[in-house]
Order: sequence, then C-alpha cells, then structure tokens
Amino acid sequence: MTSVEDPPRSVRRPRRDGARERLLDALRAAGQVSRVELAALTGLTEASVSTTVKRLLSEGVVVEAGRTRTGGKPRTLLQLDPGGRTAVGIDLATTTVTYVLTSQTGGVLARLTRRFAPVDGSAEPATDDLAARLASDVDQLLTKSGQDRGTCLGIGLVWGGPGGGLLRRTGRESDPADPARPAAGAVGAVDGERLRRSLQRVTGWPVLVENDATAAAVGEYWVARVENSRSFAALYLGAGLGAGIVIDGAAHRGSRGHAGEFGHVCVVVDGPPCPCGGSGCLEVMAGPETVVARALADPDARREAGLERVARRALLTDFSAVARAARTGGQACRAILDDSARYVAAAAETLVNLFDLDLLVLTGPGFAAAPAIYGSAITARIGASSSRVWGRPVTVTVSTAAATGPAVGAAALLLQDRLTR
Ligand SMILES: [Zn+2]
Repeated sequence: MTSVEDPPRSVRRPRRDGARERLLDALRAAGQVSRVELAALTGLTEASVSTTVKRLLSEGVVVEAGRTRTGGKPRTLLQLDPGGRTAVGIDLATTTVTYVLTSQTGGVLARLTRRFAPVDGSAEPATDDLAARLASDVDQLLTKSGQDRGTCLGIGLVWGGPGGGLLRRTGRESDPADPARPAAGAVGAVDGERLRRSLQRVTGWPVLVENDATAAAVGEYWVARVENSRSFAALYLGAGLGAGIVIDGAAHRGSRGHAGEFGHVCVVVDGPPCPCGGSGCLEVMAGPETVVARALADPDARREAGLERVARRALLTDFSAVARAARTGGQACRAILDDSARYVAAAAETLVNLFDLDLLVLTGPGFAAAPAIYGSAITARIGASSSRVWGRPVTVTVSTAAATGPAVGAAALLLQDRLTR
C-alpha cells in the first residue's frame, strides 16, 4: 500500500498497535460502547482510553450516543460518527469500474458503476486521461451522496500487483497477438503508481493503491464484519488468482506488499514455466487464462461455452462463459473447471496450513461465476485433514459483498491510514 506521504514501497508500514487504532477498531466492531467497555475490549487502561477518546471527540471522529439505562451508574455511550469521516474506493479490477463512498463505520453511502472503454496505449497522456475520468466520476459520486466533501479523507484504488500488474492479477495487459497493445477493455496497461500520482494531482486528495485480493479481504472484514479474532483469507479469482490475508484484523502484506501471491504457489514441481519465473504455479496450471485456453482447444467445450468466434473478448467474459456452461450441464466445460478447482483446492489447503486460518472467503468475478464448483472442491480437500488431523474446523464461504468489497476495502485502508496518524 502506498499513500501520499508514504516512504518508498520497500519501507515497511509500522505495526498496528497504537491505542487510537485499537479504539477505532473496537468502536467499529461494537457500535455503541462505554469507556469502561472500551478498556475491557482493547486491553488499554481506562486513563489511556479516556485521553484518546477525548481527542477523537474533539476531532469529530467519535460522538456521544446517549447513556446506558440498565443497572448501576449510567455510563455515556460512544460511537463512530457515521458521516464524520469518509473515503472513496475505486475498483479498477474488471472492465466495470466500481466507485463507493464509504463511511468510517464501513457503510456504503453512495455507489456508482461505469463501463470503461479501452485505454489507448501506456504513455503518460493515457494515464492522465484515465485519472481525469476517474476524478470526474468521483465528483459525481460525492454530489450523489450529498455528503460534505470536507469529510472525505482520500481515495483508495484497487489495482493489480504492487508493481502495477506485472503478474496480471487484474486483467489482460496486452493483446496476445500484439503484446505492445493493451487488450480491449483492459485498463491494466496503465502503471498503477503513475495513475496514483496523477489522480492525487487532479483531485488534491491522498490516494493509496492496494491489490485486489488484499482490498477484498479488508472489505470482507469491514462489510461482512468478520470477527476480530479470526484469521482468514479472501481468495480472489479475477483475471488471475490472489489471496488477501487478514490476521487479527490487520491485512498481512509482507515486507514489500507481495504477500498472498496465491497464484504463484507451486502445485506441480516440474510443471510448465510461469511468467513469474517459476514453474508449475497454480496460475499456469489452473488460472482463468489456462481454463479459457483449454476450453478453446477442446471442440466440445468451445461449443458449450459459445467460444466459436474469431474475435476474442475480455478474459473474464470468456471465463464466465465457460463457468456458465459448466453450471448448466456442459460436460466438457465442467471437466475443465473441476480440474482447475482441484488445483485451487490444493493451494488453498497450503494457505490454511501456513497461516492456521479458520475461514476462507471466495470472492472476485471468477469465483462469483462458479462458486459451487470451487467451493465444494476446497471444502472437500480441506475438510479431509483439518478437523481430523489438526482439530480445526475451516469454514469456506462465498462473499456476499463481492461487487463492492474490494472498493470498500481500499477506502477502509485509506481511512485506517489517515485516522491513525
Ligand atoms: Zn508463477
């Protein structure tokens, strides 16, 4: 994650252990709560709670919400002011761009979606053009919300890998027939860091960039209210495969923001080469590009999925067509997806074992297209050893907030970053 005044990407973000951050997390989770309860929830002393709450009240981040009525001495209840601080989240991970204005309690105050035409080339003007379009849409979003613009602390942008998409998590970056040209509908050809700076310049707000899987995981944490104690991962299937890992409420991103490159877990030791430089990676064996390529190479699957055209569409559109055919009785497409799901399940098991996870949330447009096929394969694989050998029940669910989750997550990260300074 990077933001306006951040040091270079290689410098690690400080650990989230401040009183302010713990209080904000507890308030968000609890809704309305007294100072005494806050001390119990966070493990902070009552004096520390009192000092920090005083500051949050004076800043208008927290407001008083009446008094307790049951037994004993009445206590003042506190809550986050829902409209007190907001942030914009923009999800560029598919060809449909999703904008949300998110409150500090995780609520979506306004939402906007736009279908984007292809961005021409990767030169600076295209980046600036894209930034101008995003800024104009953000302006409309804020007008639609009716919120005071002064409450908005910045913009969180959902993008591909931290390098701006080297590993293509968010879309085809080039036309296979002409690698110098971006594919139709792809915005992945624009460098994420350059876009961040450009958008920051145009809007005057701080902008941070987060990868799709991590943003989706944080979005799940905020929107679906995953319990604070839970260690969980959001597995994201878009134009590639990623995992966002949240441990004790904090996104785990590694020293350079590359944690969770789920698609590059090796599943076949001597497998085919992967663009990352490795071999037999999950993405090469079972990723959406491979699924579509296999469907195109199989006459039955091609017919079932209606891929018998010369002109290719966006990868996710083709993947969804294969998934739809598999769901509706297409045997050849089903076999291809079952095979993909087998590999994804093995890699998911590795992730669960490495991080001692108790919850996996499947999200992203790819999993949304075939939730049952992937979900049941993962459940079957993990269930076999988890409860028997490790005594650990692992829940596998499909996100109910997939459409807005990543955008909300990016906005949440921006809010966390700005509110805890
Ligand atoms: Zn790889």
